[in-house]
Amino acid sequence: MSDMNSGAQLPLEACPHCGELVPPGRFCGNCGAHLIADADAARARYHAYAAGPHEPVLRPAIVTTLFPHLPHRHTHLFRDVLAAGVVVIALLCALRLFTSATVAAAVLLPVLYLLYLYEVEVYERAPLLVVGATFGVGAALGVAYALVVPVVVHPSVVVTAGSVLVSGVLLAAVAQLLMLVGPLLLLRRVEFDETLDGLTFGVSSALGFTMTVIIAGYWHVLTSPLSGGSVVDVILGLLQIGILGAFVNAATTALITSALWLRVHGHDRGRFHAAWHGLGAAALLAFVVQIVLGVLQRVLTIEVSAVIAWAVAAAVALVALRVVVHHALLDEGAERAIGPDSVCAECHHVVPTMLFCPVCGVARSAAPKRMSAASAPAATAEAAP
Ligand SMILES: [Zn+2]
Ligand SMILES: [Zn+2]
Repeated sequence: MSDMNSGAQLPLEACPHCGELVPPGRFCGNCGAHLIADADAARARYHAYAAGPHEPVLRPAIVTTLFPHLPHRHTHLFRDVLAAGVVVIALLCALRLFTSATVAAAVLLPVLYLLYLYEVEVYERAPLLVVGATFGVGAALGVAYALVVPVVVHPSVVVTAGSVLVSGVLLAAVAQLLMLVGPLLLLRRVEFDETLDGLTFGVSSALGFTMTVIIAGYWHVLTSPLSGGSVVDVILGLLQIGILGAFVNAATTALITSALWLRVHGHDRGRFHAAWHGLGAAALLAFVVQIVLGVLQRVLTIEVSAVIAWAVAAAVALVALRVVVHHALLDEGAERAIGPDSVCAECHHVVPTMLFCPVCGVARSAAPKRMSAASAPAATAEAAP
């Protein structure tokens, strides 16, 4: 079986993990396993996350997790903008411009995410449908949620076991369910059938929801700027709800939608099936994280401890999301196919078009553009004996 489209005839080698003949490289182009390291560790390659191989899987990284299509050379840019945004929010608070600070905290991540969707051009054929159904529906439900919450939880209500149950457990679970509505509208569409589609829709919906909940929830701050409140308390509050809260919501929602997309569309080769990173475990963890935070929200009174709790929850949810997505990407895809040479968006090497880049190991489905549509027919033809 030879690769006719390549400039030179490639000597193919058998991959010890999947048994297929693949071009030589650090990673198997078919199953993504690390070819240089040996034994079982190489097959699951936890040291090289499938959507960003320069990072290990078990790292609570924000950009490579929530922005998986972003090429490596752009990740630092998004990280810098994110950090600069947090500094600007803190400065606005220090200047006692609380209204501007709240708006900035609410829109920072949504704006960054819409820029990302525009930049990676993954949904350029149906941008309004994708943004409307996920971000738009999430934002609309966020408004409805923010209007209902003050009716259910009045600040004057004394904290009892019953009130914690209603406000903490119930409201947190309802919020998580509402963030899933938008993505579910796109679940059955065949053009959005990859796990990373599920992840993107979950993040987008969660960020729309969080944005309007913050703006509506802090409406008293927007309409009558604080004068007596401590600046530090406001900064910590916006950091907890606006930034870390958005990370938590994005990660827990994407955790469920990623696992759901893999389950429903079934593009997996069954090589990494395990209950501990399946749909049931993902949904359970997502709701547990949200409910624990919902209860803590009612009982924690010191802002610093709340910020720490939200940071820990965000890290747990991000790592869990990476575990689900990593296994899904290693599992996704059709039969072995070696397509024509192309430039890898992640490492810039000219490599045969396969499910994984043989040089850096990035999953082809995490590329900035939807390359599968252009390369699939050629790849299929190549696969025929
Ligand atoms: Zn292999
Ligand atoms: Zn590469």
